[in-house]
Amino acid sequence: MIRKQEDTYRHKGLRAKLIEEIKGKGISDDHVLKAMESIPRHFFLDPAFDKIAYEDRAFPIEEGQTISQPYTVAYQTQLLQVNRLEKVLEIGTGSVYQATVLAEMGAQVFTIERQRKLYDKNQLHYPFKSKYRNIKFFYGDGFAGLPTFAPFDKILITAAAPYIPEKLIEQLKPGGIMVLPLDEDDVQTMTRITKLSDGSLVTESFHAFSFVPMLKGKEG
Ligand code: SAH
Repeated sequence: MIRKQEDTYRHKGLRAKLIEEIKGKGISDDHVLKAMESIPRHFFLDPAFDKIAYEDRAFPIEEGQTISQPYTVAYQTQLLQVNRLEKVLEIGTGSVYQATVLAEMGAQVFTIERQRKLYDKNQLHYPFKSKYRNIKFFYGDGFAGLPTFAPFDKILITAAAPYIPEKLIEQLKPGGIMVLPLDEDDVQTMTRITKLSDGSLVTESFHAFSFVPMLKGKEG
């Protein structure tokens, strides 16, 4: 649940420890680590999770969805190689934590959520509205992307994609990168697709992760 809360020294200390932990698990991109160290993750969770918000775990948010594990957020963001002022499309706004990491890194973030309730809540209660004006919220189906705002430098899917969405490939700039957990099973392979200047695709496969499913159509 998104609600204005305090960011105390205790929270900051726990956050610094968490960053060390994910560094120890192999995340080396300083831009990613710095962004995550500056963002109070507990603001994105129900206050009931306050004491455990800085454990390297996924947690439930509303509507049966989850805020990804910090290591997973760092892993996807590192693969995406985000630069300042790049246009980044995120599929699956969820808690807005991942979008906030991208915004803190200076990206122009366009994030889509298919669940009306989550979208409405995020629009109304996002705690950093005035700080991160570089996040734009959309209610829609991620499989369709955002043709009006395309092309994008980077596309990040934060739900398990059963296949590579063709429309998203179309909305990627030449030289652009898309990162997605790919597969219909309980476990997906983190996949990075680079679109070369001639339009051809290079696909790289990384570690296994487990995401909530990317579903067709809008809900609510
Ligand atoms: N990035 C989020 C992770 C949320 S979990 C965070 O940082 O918290 C995945 C989210 O993707 C859920 O909110 C789910 O409703 C959403 N989702 C699933 N399929 C989708 C689709 N086709 N289009 C847009 N959002 C989708």
